[in-house]
Amino acid sequence: MRRRTYLAGGASVLAGIAVSGFVSRPPNNERLLEAARESPDADEGSSNTETILPGTDHETPLYEIDAPNDGPTAMVFGGVHGDERGGIEAAREISDWRPDAGTLVVVPETNRVAVENNERRGVDGDLNRQFPADREPQSELAAGIWDAVEAHEPDVVLDLHRSLGIYSLHREFVGQAIFHSPDARGERLADRLNEDAVPWYLPFHKFTAGETSLTGPLLFQHTARELGASAYLFETTEFLLDHSAMVELSRLAAAHVLELHGLLEVGGGA
Ligand SMILES: [Zn+2]
Repeated sequence: MRRRTYLAGGASVLAGIAVSGFVSRPPNNERLLEAARESPDADEGSSNTETILPGTDHETPLYEIDAPNDGPTAMVFGGVHGDERGGIEAAREISDWRPDAGTLVVVPETNRVAVENNERRGVDGDLNRQFPADREPQSELAAGIWDAVEAHEPDVVLDLHRSLGIYSLHREFVGQAIFHSPDARGERLADRLNEDAVPWYLPFHKFTAGETSLTGPLLFQHTARELGASAYLFETTEFLLDHSAMVELSRLAAAHVLELHGLLEVGGGA
């Protein structure tokens, strides 16, 4: 108990340190984000917006950005849980990114009703439990999202989430974690984020990578199972981190995933 009290006190002190923009921005990160944001030549590439489940309460935009060069299709989701705001904000920004190759598909507010209510669950419960193996998606929303996924046939899927607490310190929480399908680059992604984005004074915030079972009911598991996608579920923690830090980690995770899978080229060598 005493230790817990101490940690709570430490949290308030560290919260003062872990303020906006704590994530370090060494040249690697800057170059990567610049590559993500830069517009290709005006006559190259294209983007369009679709609507998932139009005319329903779940109606939500999907952004498709085609790069000038051929490459894989990556799909990024925010707001599968409506109260996980860092991933939603990052995904909104990512919908303006311009990949160098392939196609980037972004759904920033996957569970639109939950996002608007700022709640984890929507009207039909937890969307991220509605994609069981060998069965149809378990709600109208899940079916609509799955239709969009099948239409775009992603090679790579990244689902942005938020955790509470710290893994191994708080038993019930996963902390900063990357769950990934067996063929995905989860370990490399964790290494990159730990090298460049997690400051030395927050050692408990190092990301852990874990290979996921493909039998579960989560959206990213279903994409790996049904489509053979390289799939990631990204968790940044609210513990000690403020909103802007969580957004930054989410956007960096996305940029690294796009680079690892060949959608982004980081120029300048080194
Ligand atoms: Zn979540």
